[in-house]
Amino acid sequence: METDGKYNNYRDLMSFTKDELNEYLTGLNEKKFRASQIYEWLHKKLADSYDDMTNIPKKLKDTLAAKYEARPMRIEKKLVSEVDGTAKYLMCTMDGNIIESVAMQYPYGMSVCISSQAGCRMGCSFCASTIMGLERSLTASEMLSQIYLIQKDMGRRVDNIVVMGIGEPFDNYDELIKFLRMISDENGLNISQRSITVSTCGIVDRIYDFADEEMAVTLAISLHAPYDELRKSIMPVANRYSLRQIKEACLYFINKTGRRITFEYAMIAGVNDTPECAEKLVSYVKGMLCHVNLIPLNSVKERNCRASYAAEVRYFEKYLEKNRINGTIRKGMGRDIEAACGQLRRECLEEKSKSFHKNERM
Ligand code: SAH
Repeated sequence: METDGKYNNYRDLMSFTKDELNEYLTGLNEKKFRASQIYEWLHKKLADSYDDMTNIPKKLKDTLAAKYEARPMRIEKKLVSEVDGTAKYLMCTMDGNIIESVAMQYPYGMSVCISSQAGCRMGCSFCASTIMGLERSLTASEMLSQIYLIQKDMGRRVDNIVVMGIGEPFDNYDELIKFLRMISDENGLNISQRSITVSTCGIVDRIYDFADEEMAVTLAISLHAPYDELRKSIMPVANRYSLRQIKEACLYFINKTGRRITFEYAMIAGVNDTPECAEKLVSYVKGMLCHVNLIPLNSVKERNCRASYAAEVRYFEKYLEKNRINGTIRKGMGRDIEAACGQLRRECLEEKSKSFHKNERM
């Protein structure tokens, strides 16, 4: 059927935008209001299955269910921090990929950190997510699903979203943009774009594209080093794009959107935490409409690096302050549940592969 041809690569009904669902259902000779009803079930009422959709005729549900799952993902495991209530979720896609999402509760609301890919191919030397490479990119519906499942499970509205989990969002650009449009759409959860942050390791071409989307989403750049030579030694992407190119793209973004950029700077002992680095960092960001986030490194046991001492972090903070640069030290959340990106997924995959090998030997 022609209607299906176009959507053959869709595995779940949540992948359809409202217009696509409209077009699809019209092709099935359905009444016009059905698309609105179904879209609302999926994206506003957060239905778990076709069974929940009580005002949709069974025949139509059966037709749809024969081709598309209602939901692309489910919660596999949940860990809750005893320290601060942070909840870490392992989610499982239909094809068995495991990804991570985190819900952080603050006095002013709940913030959710989502993954954009299963694995990552950026290869940053301090990061657990990239150790086993990239399995595949996530679809927009799989990104939406992380938000929906957490909102339902926590019984609380998601107020802020950060795309800072596993993966490089700008390595999955089209699905990322589709996700951002759908999550901030009034026919869905209608989360304000101003409450969303996308973090990139600095894929310059995409920073320009992103600026041209003219969304009100905050852009965060993982800087981590204030000069190219050092950056190349910890982030392979620095071989493709220089800090100068990143800065030009950031200035374009700021100019185009009027929005402040966040620079993330994970402090690694003896690597990027010297007074010379602080000085270079300040001269790099000076004059830009930006905010610097100092992140004490989360130790990853496979990675040979550890967090800077508090004294170095404080030195950076004071040095930024002295130079009138906006900056904060990021508060670590959920340390007791390994909330840093990629660590749980990796452990889970290792466990799976161990039991797989065990089974093989038997
Ligand atoms: N790929 C994107 C988004 C995912 S990572 C990016 O690079 O921005 C989210 C943030 O966590 C990035 O700033 C990343 O560099 C940082 N990060 C990765 N491993 C970390 C670790 N072990 N400790 C602290 N921050 C880490």
